[in-house]
Amino acid sequence: MQTEYQQRREALMSKIGHGVAIFRSAPMAVMHNDVEYNFRQDSDFFYLTGFNEAQAVAVLSPHHPEHRFVLFVLPKDREQEIWSGYRCGVEAAKEIYGADEAYSIAELDEKLPQYLEKSDRIYYHLGRDRAFNEKILNHWQSLMRTYPKRGTGPIAIEDTGPILHSMRLIKTEVELELMRKAADIAVEAHNYAMKFTAPGIYEYEVQAEIEHIFRKRGAMGPAYPSIVASGANACVLHYVENNRQMQDNELLLIDAGCAYNYYNSDITRTFPVGGKFTAEQKTLYELVLEAQKQAIAQVQPGNPYNLVHDTAVRILTEGLVELGILKGEIDKLIEEEKYKPFYMHRTGHWLGLDVHDVGVYQHGDDNPQILQPGQVLTVEPGLYIVPDTKPTEDQPEIDERWVGIGIRIEDDVLVTPTGHEVLTAGVPKEVDQVER
Ligand code: MG
Ligand code: MG
Repeated sequence: MQTEYQQRREALMSKIGHGVAIFRSAPMAVMHNDVEYNFRQDSDFFYLTGFNEAQAVAVLSPHHPEHRFVLFVLPKDREQEIWSGYRCGVEAAKEIYGADEAYSIAELDEKLPQYLEKSDRIYYHLGRDRAFNEKILNHWQSLMRTYPKRGTGPIAIEDTGPILHSMRLIKTEVELELMRKAADIAVEAHNYAMKFTAPGIYEYEVQAEIEHIFRKRGAMGPAYPSIVASGANACVLHYVENNRQMQDNELLLIDAGCAYNYYNSDITRTFPVGGKFTAEQKTLYELVLEAQKQAIAQVQPGNPYNLVHDTAVRILTEGLVELGILKGEIDKLIEEEKYKPFYMHRTGHWLGLDVHDVGVYQHGDDNPQILQPGQVLTVEPGLYIVPDTKPTEDQPEIDERWVGIGIRIEDDVLVTPTGHEVLTAGVPKEVDQVER
């Protein structure tokens, strides 16, 4: 694994010339009072180092004769470690993580300038930690003040995102192995949840079963707050209360995925609580399923990213017109986004170390990202007939029988050299498979 991190650092360094790249570990987040959330490393930091502790800084300095990769970490401290856990420490930062040089984080201000003063720019993402941003800006300022003396120094700060995130967008074999594992665990959890669900059960009971499997199979936990939404709760896109008792003749929408070794899965399935769709539920479900399948079919290398969304939108809009929920000419309805009261989100996102992973979706207007092998994206169309949706001048009143139905179907899809692979295909979605 260390070889993989090293290759990533080398790849990044080959793109920054005489620059120096600085990465900051994630800050600790407070849960309440003096209790902190479980630490979760910043994804960029983790991608380049595999180092999993707070209060660390990584410096990549390709022009430096000896110290191309430098880590600043918390030093060993027996007393502190008894309270808050193992620390790698300065020496092991070199041995285990392959740093050419390592220092205590307390030495950052003293040691950092030597890596910056001969560089021509600083690569740094202004991140979540404002105090640290300030620190970097102060270093820059003082180097600029002394620039005339040396005639060298960083004359610009550039965001690391465009370079690093285009690397993260294409997954390596090692990354794909972890993503497959995250997908497999979530597949098992969804399959069990479908069996477990029955009228009378509470949403949180299903959530508990899902998250039990996540942990039991070695995942770090949910990739994001699990959504277990029965009945009209499914029309709330990020419903996380999960406290309602499910009834017969309703649908249950589950949007849940896990994080395995930092890599995420993200799956949604919608199915009848009591085992059988009503006629209306089935009609809308089949429409979303068709949109999802056609959208997935567009996941091919060379296709523009937005074709996936556009395909789903067209099929959903055509379907809504056929059912009388929308009225008008298809192209015009799409252009004017009249489908949006029923389909208000995009059809997917990149997936990886972050659930909504990094990487651009387009390079300016009319220049979409082109799908390439190694990218992983979700495909997740839905339809939500939100209660109290008001008819507009040119749109009909919605027949009561549709109201409160919310459906989303989401899979994780890898772009392959010849097409695509659905990583989460192990959770059934055909009507006769989700009916019991
Ligand atoms: Mg999801
Ligand atoms: Mg998603």
